[in-house]
Amino acid sequence: MMRMTVLASGSRGNSTLVSSSRTRILVDAGLSCRELLKRMQIAGEDPAAIDALLITHEHQDHVQGLAVLARRLGVPVYFTKATHRAWMRWMMPHKRITYAAWLAQRQQDLAQRQAAEAAPPTATLAPAVVGEGRCEDESPAARQDDPCSLPGVEYFAAGSGFSIGDIAITPFTIPHDAADPVGFVFEADGIRMAIATDLGYIPPNVKMAIRNCDVLMIESNHDLEMLRDGPYPWSVKQRVMSRVGHLSNEAAADFLEKNYDGNASYVVLAHLSECNNLPELARVTAERALRDRMSLLANKLVLAEQNMPLEPICL
Ligand SMILES: [Zn+2]
Ligand SMILES: [Zn+2]
Repeated sequence: MMRMTVLASGSRGNSTLVSSSRTRILVDAGLSCRELLKRMQIAGEDPAAIDALLITHEHQDHVQGLAVLARRLGVPVYFTKATHRAWMRWMMPHKRITYAAWLAQRQQDLAQRQAAEAAPPTATLAPAVVGEGRCEDESPAARQDDPCSLPGVEYFAAGSGFSIGDIAITPFTIPHDAADPVGFVFEADGIRMAIATDLGYIPPNVKMAIRNCDVLMIESNHDLEMLRDGPYPWSVKQRVMSRVGHLSNEAAADFLEKNYDGNASYVVLAHLSECNNLPELARVTAERALRDRMSLLANKLVLAEQNMPLEPICL
């Protein structure tokens, strides 16, 4: 048995639960902790049963509630190393500091520490004792104040499979403007589910990775014409349309028509833009591409929602 429950999908937050009979994984936590817990309740999912959080990339719509939720549930977070580093930079209050300034600060701290250690004990008897005490007092408090502290961090690398409980996971690189973005294929009990959103186009490695899936969640972000004529500034339009932006309805349909193997019981259109897309447009474009393959048994088309969880998809 496997189950996919899309809690939220779109530019204001993404989060999806993938479960086997024994393991539950939350992919991305792009809403507040409170909202995520609320949506799990609506969808009939028990947050206490979650074993791990798994992160695709560090954009805000994928990590908004990550730290608070992970601490609340006491579960480890799986990132690539580069995504973890990028997320920490985003989280730190002094994130606007330049790298040069940060380095200078580090060197100054280091020099001060070395000077303190090198000083003869007789001259700094009192400060040495005070120093020890301060360290002991500071570290637990500092840990509590650290917005990046997590119950556990595990690293994976794109292209290298790993497992959480009885779910085998294959992360694959996607073309998107983040540090080290990935999509995932999950497999348990002979069932395969893929999540491929936030990608500018579908390169060969992604086409390979998402073959033979029973549930295929694929981005259908924008209608090209709506985006072109829409309210975004030109620079943002260019970013969205670029090879490291988001997948259009047309590009998703092109994939479904020419490259997709037709094996999925469910195709989930995801990460729809509220500004530059209409659910009906996304649906019609994908339906047209799938026209000869739609049946009662396969390729049921489902649209992920931004504002409410979907019915769990169970296989
Ligand atoms: Zn993104
Ligand atoms: Zn996104």
